[in-house]
Amino acid sequence: MKLIDVHLHVGQVFEWRPEAVRLWMDTGPYRPLIYDDEGRLVPERYHRVLAGEGVVGGVLLPEYSPETAGSLPVERVFEVCRRYPRYIPFGAVNPLVHDDLLAEARRQRQLGVVGFKLHGVHGLYAVNDRRLYPFYEWCRSEGLPVMLHAGTSIFPRTKLKHADPYLYDEVATDFPELTLVLCHAGRNFWYHLAEFMVIRHPRVYIDVSGLPPRKLLTFYPRMAKLADRFLFGTDFPGVPGIRSNAEKIATLGLDDAVLHRIFYANARELLPFPDGV
Ligand SMILES: [Zn+2]
Repeated sequence: MKLIDVHLHVGQVFEWRPEAVRLWMDTGPYRPLIYDDEGRLVPERYHRVLAGEGVVGGVLLPEYSPETAGSLPVERVFEVCRRYPRYIPFGAVNPLVHDDLLAEARRQRQLGVVGFKLHGVHGLYAVNDRRLYPFYEWCRSEGLPVMLHAGTSIFPRTKLKHADPYLYDEVATDFPELTLVLCHAGRNFWYHLAEFMVIRHPRVYIDVSGLPPRKLLTFYPRMAKLADRFLFGTDFPGVPGIRSNAEKIATLGLDDAVLHRIFYANARELLPFPDGV
């Protein structure tokens, strides 16, 4: 089983807020395997663990959510992907952190990011905030995909209003040519709307990270029909097991061609992975 994991987090342990480590990262077995004793991510270990799980490529995600999850700067992404190009770099911006949001996005683009991940729920902003619109327009013109955390979070201080599905639908409607990936789409209370957004908006995808794999067909009954719009991802290192998640998805009764699309081919075609992935 060849896997591309489109949802991999980086950052030192001490850059995450302690409650994020407890409630998310430590739901998986990986912390002792990828960090040194000081809590620094060791790229060689990080890669070895992922390769051991069958991951042949992935997307590395920074995050700027100082109030809730932590500040995991884009530089952490490059510490891994410069050494292991099978992992591609995404950037991140937050209108409450970056005064000149577009300038920061351009700076990250100069560093080499090939897309962005926005986390309104942890970042405490609405993804349809008009301050983001010039950024979305710029991403569209540059052909850069944008991942949006699109579901609830159990972290303290996060607000449900930022997970409102209609915020996401508005962005998709206002930027029909922008590629959007809804991460954990609809988690906890709007899966059916997320699936409808995929049907309605031709450039919207769903990444299934952070969801119980055995329930995917309950959440997204048309998953097989919409197979070219679903992406495998795990929220690593906050996941009980990457390979075991994939194995559980493989028992849902989806045919091999569908599984290949979700596990590998969709991400390979959508994102600029280097040759050999
Ligand atoms: Zn995540």
